[in-house]
Amino acid sequence: MTTDILIIGGGIAGLSAAATLSPHASVTLLETEDALGYHASGRSAAMFLRDYGNDVVRALNYASAEHHAVTDGGMLSARGMMLVARPDQYDDFKTQHAGFDLQEISMEEALSHVPILNRETCAYAAYRADAYDLDADRLLQTFAAEARRAGAKILTKSPVTTITKSDGVWQVTAGGQIHSATTLINASGAWVDENAALAGISPLGFQPYRRSMARIPAPGGHDVRTWPFMISVNDQWYAKPDAGKWIVSPSDEDPVDPHDAWADDMVLAEGLARYEEMVTQPVTRLETSWAGLRTFAPDRALVIGRDTVDPTFFWLGGQGGYGFQTAPAASRLTADLLLGRTPELDAKTVAALDPARFD
Ligand SMILES: Cc1cc2nc3c(=O)[nH]c(=O)nc-3n(C[C@H](O)[C@H](O)[C@H](O)COP(=O)(O)OP(=O)(O)OC[C@H]3O[C@@H](n4cnc5c(N)ncnc54)[C@H](O)[C@@H]3O)c2cc1C
Repeated sequence: MTTDILIIGGGIAGLSAAATLSPHASVTLLETEDALGYHASGRSAAMFLRDYGNDVVRALNYASAEHHAVTDGGMLSARGMMLVARPDQYDDFKTQHAGFDLQEISMEEALSHVPILNRETCAYAAYRADAYDLDADRLLQTFAAEARRAGAKILTKSPVTTITKSDGVWQVTAGGQIHSATTLINASGAWVDENAALAGISPLGFQPYRRSMARIPAPGGHDVRTWPFMISVNDQWYAKPDAGKWIVSPSDEDPVDPHDAWADDMVLAEGLARYEEMVTQPVTRLETSWAGLRTFAPDRALVIGRDTVDPTFFWLGGQGGYGFQTAPAASRLTADLLLGRTPELDAKTVAALDPARFD
């Protein structure tokens, strides 16, 4: 099968790129698993936080906001965000609430948002209303549908096992078929360096980190639907409502090799204990738990651009903890660069995303 562009990876990165490119070029996307979004993209906290990530990530967040707000009736719903801190953490609290652009609020107001805060251990809170739940699954499916409508072939059960190049054409074996294309996009999440090496391209030093989550019953039987996304100072844990339940993450960030991640019991138990210290309701039962891999480049910005040695190899990696919130702008930049258009994003941001920054 011959196409203009082959994409490796059926997560939010690969699917959003397929959607922006397929109106202009023939596109085939190859995904190992039976289902799209099985790995990191099926395990996120589904938040849109404009001021989360470094400046380069924030530029992508800002440039993605309108797409999230309007596409398919809008992908965002109001959630709010609250940072909480112990009495001995005021200095870190001040720095971090400014970083997230939150406003300090009284403990009375904090309790009106989350009535289970423990007044003995929780001394400071800061809040902003404009933090949103992002309908991650619908975003993924919308990009997939757009790509298919424009003629893209999206093939699951198609693990890429060999990648060669002859006469300027990539030859890729996946799921018993050979695919040819002049451009190869590497959007393979935690496997991004492994697949580069398979193609004979030098890896860039991406590192996957495990992050775990637990879903627990609504604390104390409260109606949690209007509670905000709540995060502790120094990233000790975070929690948010999820379909009438409450999810808590230990905010773990353990470096691991690429794999089908699962939650580590000890990491989860320690994180839940840190969370329990700040609330009045103990965790009595876990309904379920899971983990996913957040994959970062060494400087924690995404990597979007042509490889500096072989420009027919395109990097779309390092989505870290921001793959959904940045996807609209990241995929538009991918299309701009591959179709020879002037990027919508400013030149400084484009350079900060370019793989050439690691040369
Ligand atoms: C617990 C957790 C919470 C998060 N919360 C948020 C959040 O609130 N907001 C946000 O924006 N982001 C969040 N993220 C981050 C977000 O989920 C990721 O940045 C995003 O899903 C990464 O998408 P991806 O397409 O790059 O990777 P993936 O979804 O992992 O997709 C890569 C795909 O490539 C495939 N692949 C790999 N190698 C091959 C091969 N050789 N052949 C074929 N296919 C291959 C894999 O099977 C995989 O499906 C969170 C992540 C985690 C783990």
